[in-house]
Amino acid sequence: LTSTQQAMIDLEEKHGAHNYHPLPVVLCKGRGTKVWDIDGKSYYDFLSAYSAVNQGHCHSKILVALIEQAQKLTLTSRAFHNDALGEYCKFVTGYFGFDRLLPMNTGVEAGETAIKLARRWGYDVKKIPEGKARVIFASGNFWGRTIAAISTSEDPSSTTGFGPFVPGFSNVPYDDADALQAELEGPQGAEVCAFMVEPIQGEAGVVVPKDGYLTRVRELCDKHKVLFIADEVQTGLGRTGTLLACDHDGVRPDILVLGKALSGGVLPVSAVLTSDEVMLTIRPGEHGSTYGGNPLACQVATAALEVLRDENLTENSKARGEQLRAGLQELSEKPGSPISLVRGRGLLNAIVIGDDKGSYGDEGRAWELCEKMAGHGLLAKPTHGTIIRLAPPLCITEAEIDECIDIIRRSLAQL
Ligand code: PLP
Repeated sequence: LTSTQQAMIDLEEKHGAHNYHPLPVVLCKGRGTKVWDIDGKSYYDFLSAYSAVNQGHCHSKILVALIEQAQKLTLTSRAFHNDALGEYCKFVTGYFGFDRLLPMNTGVEAGETAIKLARRWGYDVKKIPEGKARVIFASGNFWGRTIAAISTSEDPSSTTGFGPFVPGFSNVPYDDADALQAELEGPQGAEVCAFMVEPIQGEAGVVVPKDGYLTRVRELCDKHKVLFIADEVQTGLGRTGTLLACDHDGVRPDILVLGKALSGGVLPVSAVLTSDEVMLTIRPGEHGSTYGGNPLACQVATAALEVLRDENLTENSKARGEQLRAGLQELSEKPGSPISLVRGRGLLNAIVIGDDKGSYGDEGRAWELCEKMAGHGLLAKPTHGTIIRLAPPLCITEAEIDECIDIIRRSLAQL
């Protein structure tokens, strides 16, 4: 680390909150699959800002949309109409096949919005007695850091010292449709308005459920008149090799939650998509956001979705994901390899270092491997101590994946 980089890190350390533990690298530029530090060293970005930069860094088409709209009008609030929101809602609802869209900014706000919609629908349509609506989540879920989001978390680093928590939420084991069935058929089953789930759990460490899990979730939700909320904030928009991760099982949720790559990493833009029946239960003045639906966000998100479609990024994600996993699998099978497991779908992948029991902790071998990879020009970050997520921008090429597998191979050899 050069002294300039260290000085910048120290400044952040001294004047900023200590709520993250970043890898010691200071970036100042991004293009496509790569980022550069302030000393000019380039890195493949294998985090993609937690899957927000699916389209690649600083995509020219998205930047043109940003700059053109920024010169005209950036924010009106929803107190007035703007000339971008209607077109945007039409485009996005058509793109994903839903009746209506509610615009928000961050992923967690969209999750909160989905839950508010589900509760309201529960009272107005399902006729759950007032104040009794329950939402079921899956163990290991991650959907953000607000009080409601951490109220469903089982991770002590998310919850410790932040209670009391929001009532009306409970968890069932992930990838266990029988457990959901038992909950829905249980004594309080009639009070359940929704089941909210990630089709692949991202922050939990890229946990891929068994084929057919989501199909059974869909059937159970239909049978018990429960809304199926798919949190595709991380998995959506081509990341897993299909436009939505739910597409892999051919199921459609009742409420779709999108964020992150909806703007290609340019602005915080999130959205909730659902039917007339659900969306229209919320009436004027009952929910909103100052920045939600701003014209800048509308134009940027439209361009980001066009790039995804026009550059066939979903198809590329599928093919390059297969190539990456095959390469990683080969590395894991070498005698003495510290990789104990390779998993993922499309370009949302993870390797598990060591015994998968978290025994090495953050300072252990997974962290060390990330440092070695950074040294060779590839940035990734451990989650839960032993798991390293490998999720490059979806525009990565075949030759680049080969190069990255070689970087990982050389880094492993140094452990
Ligand atoms: N939902 C999922 C599945 C996520 O992975 C995340 C963030 O990692 C969120 C929601 C929250 O998004 P944000 O950080 O934009 O609030």
